[in-house]
Amino acid sequence: MSFLQEPPRLGNTYDADPLLREYLARALPPSALFAVEPELRYLGELSGGRLFRMQLEDRLNEPRLTQWDPWGRRSDAIELTPLWREAARLAAEHGLVAVPYEGKNGEFSRLHQMAMVYLLEPSMDVYSCPLAMTDGAARTLVDLGNGELVRRALPRLTSRDPARAWTSGQWMTERVGGSDVSRTETVARLSPDGWRLYGTKWFTSATTAEMALTLARPEGNPVGSKGLALFYLETRDAEGRANGIAVNRLKDKLGTRKVPTAELTLDGARADPVAGLADGVRNIASLLNMTRLWNTVVAASGMRRALHLALDYSRRRTAFGERLAEKPLHRDTLASLEAEAEGAFLLAFRVAELQGRVEAGREGERDRLLLRVLTPLAKLTTGKQAVAVASEALEAFGGAGYVEDTGLPRLLRDAQVLPIWEGTTNVLSLDALRALSTPGAVEALSEETERALGAARDPSLRGPAEAASRALANARGWLASARDAEEAFAAGTRRLALTLGRALELSLLCGHAQWCLDQGKGRRAAAAARRFSRQAVDLVDPGLDPADARLLCDVP
Ligand SMILES: Cc1cc2nc3c(=O)[nH]c(=O)nc-3n(C[C@H](O)[C@H](O)[C@H](O)COP(=O)(O)OP(=O)(O)OC[C@H]3O[C@@H](n4cnc5c(N)ncnc54)[C@H](O)[C@@H]3O)c2cc1C
Repeated sequence: MSFLQEPPRLGNTYDADPLLREYLARALPPSALFAVEPELRYLGELSGGRLFRMQLEDRLNEPRLTQWDPWGRRSDAIELTPLWREAARLAAEHGLVAVPYEGKNGEFSRLHQMAMVYLLEPSMDVYSCPLAMTDGAARTLVDLGNGELVRRALPRLTSRDPARAWTSGQWMTERVGGSDVSRTETVARLSPDGWRLYGTKWFTSATTAEMALTLARPEGNPVGSKGLALFYLETRDAEGRANGIAVNRLKDKLGTRKVPTAELTLDGARADPVAGLADGVRNIASLLNMTRLWNTVVAASGMRRALHLALDYSRRRTAFGERLAEKPLHRDTLASLEAEAEGAFLLAFRVAELQGRVEAGREGERDRLLLRVLTPLAKLTTGKQAVAVASEALEAFGGAGYVEDTGLPRLLRDAQVLPIWEGTTNVLSLDALRALSTPGAVEALSEETERALGAARDPSLRGPAEAASRALANARGWLASARDAEEAFAAGTRRLALTLGRALELSLLCGHAQWCLDQGKGRRAAAAARRFSRQAVDLVDPGLDPADARLLCDVP
């Protein structure tokens, strides 16, 4: 009766992550790596140490909404959890939003930022959510060139002073739809003191944000998405009074429990158009691209955290006379997850690289096209991987993975949102298809994979490289031929997108593995490429009959 199981432990999550360190050594110039590495190591220590302990202690705290003060005034005050307050301070001080706008490392500034996000996020309880929207809002204001709003908001959005720093919300989803916002019901009316918004926003995550970018239809505009305009609003005035915004309630969610996601009523909220009085959906694209990049990096970081814990536990837990790590079957299970996590990481950081190049003005047309195609593919592919990896990782702890005070179930609950928000898997598959129809996009994608695969000379990488090439050829064949069969083509879009995403990951794994072999950094990366190549890369299936789907869903 005296046995007590050692819990899983984390060390410095930067030092314990060979892939991150290899990748940065490959992607960054030595001077940039030299400049950023001490901070990354510090954040790795924090994330695996003090912040992780605080996250476990903070487990039962949740944001609280107080709608009325004791004297009957509407207050709508939201109290955040202690860890979120600490995360806000850390995020400002380390420039989690600011770094790419400061641009000290030029085109590599995005990589620096995303490496910090990757390290900190698993111990920040999804504080990445408001940060992603803040980054997206900053990018959107800059891209749309509204000088007045840039002067007013950008210094706040990118401030390193926690007392001055703002976060931003992104309020798009309404009761009528989040994927299809064309029926948005919020209207904008011109009053003597400017535009005022009236409507209901159904999901608003950064409800404590100081500002938001939101969609509304100026009165008299046509129906449909073209008639929507993008508006900037500040949530409170200088005295702290709400700007015509009431918080109806906080959502009771499966996961992201620390994120205060609310339903809001806008009743005359003062707002300013960001870029004209139409084309709001097109104008908010920069914001969505940014939050999708964050989602992708967060997916990769969640998988890494689950694996850090599961691998550590496998060395501490004994069953049938042996540590789990010594059992070929348990090792095999974890190795498959490791290959998924490594593929996701490389795709996420490839998108960050491209984003950094585009922002620094270093890109050619090919990079711009590639970024447009890779952003939805990476988001949808890694979102799915994150849920699958988290689920299997919990099983690797047995019953402990299902017990709340181990802190482990959060990994799965918080992963489950990643394929839903910022565009569901189906919606992003359709978006990727649209991106691929741009002239030159398919060629840019092919060049990207051929470059990585061409570099993979080691005989042990031949099989994986061929698997990636075959999957890509199959996907291209489907793209070229299946369009005639309209229903089958539409039905196959998700399988097509996942095939492209997974084949991209495999090609990046091959390229990275060859670099590791060339640099004498061992054969782990090659093992990841080989393992990944055996895990359902090619999902395109011309044999699937959409009529069967109709039968199964009972739709005539
Ligand atoms: C925790 C959380 C926080 C959120 N925070 C915010 C926020 O801050 N701001 C914000 O604006 N939104 C936010 N959202 C909303 C989120 O972005 C939407 O829920 C999401 O975009 C899906 O929209 P919907 O819920 O209306 O689902 P629907 O659009 O109704 O989708 C339902 C299903 O239909 C599928 N579908 C839709 N269209 C198609 C199609 N053309 N072909 C095939 N399948 C299709 C979808 O894939 C999905 O499976 C949040 C959501 C969650 C869960």
